[in-house]
Amino acid sequence: MNVLLLTDVNADGSLAKATHEALTAAIDVARSLARVLTVGLIGRDVAAAATSIGSSGATRFLGVRGADFDEPRYVTDAAAAHAVCLAAGADIVIAPATSRWLRVFAGVAQRLGGRVDTHVTRIAASPAAVSVTRWYYRQRIEGTTSRSERPWLIAVEPGTHEAWSGRPAPATVEPVAVSLPELRTQVTGVRSPAAGEETIRPDAELLLVAGAGWTKKQADGQTHIADAESVILRFLRSTHASLGGSKSLVDLSGEGQAVLPFMTHLNQIGQTGASPRHRKGLSTCCHGEEPHVVGWRFITERRAINLNPNCGWAQGKADVLYVADAFEVMKKVNEQLI
Ligand SMILES: Cc1cc2nc3c(=O)[nH]c(=O)nc-3n(C[C@H](O)[C@H](O)[C@H](O)COP(=O)(O)OP(=O)(O)OC[C@H]3O[C@@H](n4cnc5c(N)ncnc54)[C@H](O)[C@@H]3O)c2cc1C
Repeated sequence: MNVLLLTDVNADGSLAKATHEALTAAIDVARSLARVLTVGLIGRDVAAAATSIGSSGATRFLGVRGADFDEPRYVTDAAAAHAVCLAAGADIVIAPATSRWLRVFAGVAQRLGGRVDTHVTRIAASPAAVSVTRWYYRQRIEGTTSRSERPWLIAVEPGTHEAWSGRPAPATVEPVAVSLPELRTQVTGVRSPAAGEETIRPDAELLLVAGAGWTKKQADGQTHIADAESVILRFLRSTHASLGGSKSLVDLSGEGQAVLPFMTHLNQIGQTGASPRHRKGLSTCCHGEEPHVVGWRFITERRAINLNPNCGWAQGKADVLYVADAFEVMKKVNEQLI
């Protein structure tokens, strides 16, 4: 019995940051349990990926490779993951909690007769017991669970572990055969925003939050939507920050009001939005009410710019509050970034 890290390989043969983070978790668990670590790789070609983590201490590399495993697709990913888990004989299986793995992980656990936990932020392992920690009720309650059933499939939330880094080293990949049923799902292409135009970037160092204030009448009695748009986009282009929004701002489009066209509900941070894990956050023109700020739980360093010295950020919710006009401050910041 051993610990298995299960993951996909990018089309260019590299491994995602979320995989390197899950690898850190898997190494820790294997070490704590004094078990061997196996790595299972799935993708068009897996050799370069295995070499890239060859010095991680993994003793065995299993690979499912071929054009059928290039794209995320339930039937191929589930069959490949099932075959790798059986070949590894693993009792603890760790994967990154990306959309690709979250889609198939429960199904794979079912096929194996095992159990699954997702969005795990910490794994505590000792020879006596293994337990996982995750957040519930929109990040308000942290719970710890241990299970005796095996195999136990654990999807590790991106951003919760240091990404493993180390030298490449030779690694021999044992091929794992997968028998696939007839494929009814064909991947015909990917539609995504033009490169550089996407505004949600989970891997960014910084989160910029825009609030409804950007669309409100300013001191001259006028709104300045076009100005707001150019200031925000210029900042994003210079810093590659991720963009979040308050609920009030992203709801405006539904009310037929003037809006920032690049914001959607996917950008919403908060109780009914996302809780991202960037190291730094800068809030602009956002009041900092509790249902919004609860989404900042995992942001380590928080700053805000607001005209109102009594806004929510001033009530102990930000490390630094600049009582100032965000239009002016951000224009100055953008000038500095050139
Ligand atoms: C059940 C429930 C769930 C909710 N979930 C969420 C959620 O997930 N996410 C969320 O965001 N909200 C959520 N809300 C709503 C939340 O309570 C607030 O209403 C919302 O966050 C307010 O958005 P805002 O701060 O952008 O807008 P406003 O409250 O309108 O604040 C605008 C701010 O902009 C400032 N401002 C204006 N002009 C400038 C300028 N030139 N420079 C600097 N500052 C300026 C103003 O001083 C003001 O503080 C929820 C509410 C409920 C009841």
